[in-house]
Amino acid sequence: MLITARYLVDRLRYPRSRADDVVALRRRFAAAPGPDQASAEEIALAAEMRSLREELSAALAGVSACGGCAKGHALPHGRWRGGHCCGTRTELVFTDDEVAALRRSGTTPGRLVPPTGDVAGCAFRGPEGCSLEVADRPNICVRFLCLELQGELRERGDLREIKAIDAALMKAFERLRRLRSERAGPGVEPWEDG
Ligand code: SF4
Repeated sequence: MLITARYLVDRLRYPRSRADDVVALRRRFAAAPGPDQASAEEIALAAEMRSLREELSAALAGVSACGGCAKGHALPHGRWRGGHCCGTRTELVFTDDEVAALRRSGTTPGRLVPPTGDVAGCAFRGPEGCSLEVADRPNICVRFLCLELQGELRERGDLREIKAIDAALMKAFERLRRLRSERAGPGVEPWEDG
């Protein structure tokens, strides 16, 4: 009910496609098991991923590649100067495994607040970048290191360290994905819980 009420407000505030994307995602989060409903290992993995996302994001502070990579590209990617990889569809980054991981580490529907401005790919992409806290972003958003970014990090001298955090994040994500898949069992798809 609260999600529906917020949707009605969002319809007045945002372009319809953004409001539609966000309400669909909030409903998926509301249906997914929270920290009090998943196994201890899943909760631990989700918390580890949240911490690694924050560590990785902090390690990437100051990079310039992400601020100008979309310039000159076709729409929707080129609408803003940076964040070319965010010019994608919302549901392609918020996969069921990503929603499950985020929900288990405490992301709630209410934390999914989009930016104002034109829609240019993912519902959370705005002129200033992503409107979500790092802790609430899908793992792929934080751990994706495009070639341009890797080149900058190589020159800066911390590519190896950053790749190590990236690999730890990927490992934890894969472990959670396998756990969900095993728990689903025959006849039940693993994405049915989130
Ligand atoms: S959630 Fe944020 S970082 Fe991820 S694709 Fe959307 S705008 Fe980009």
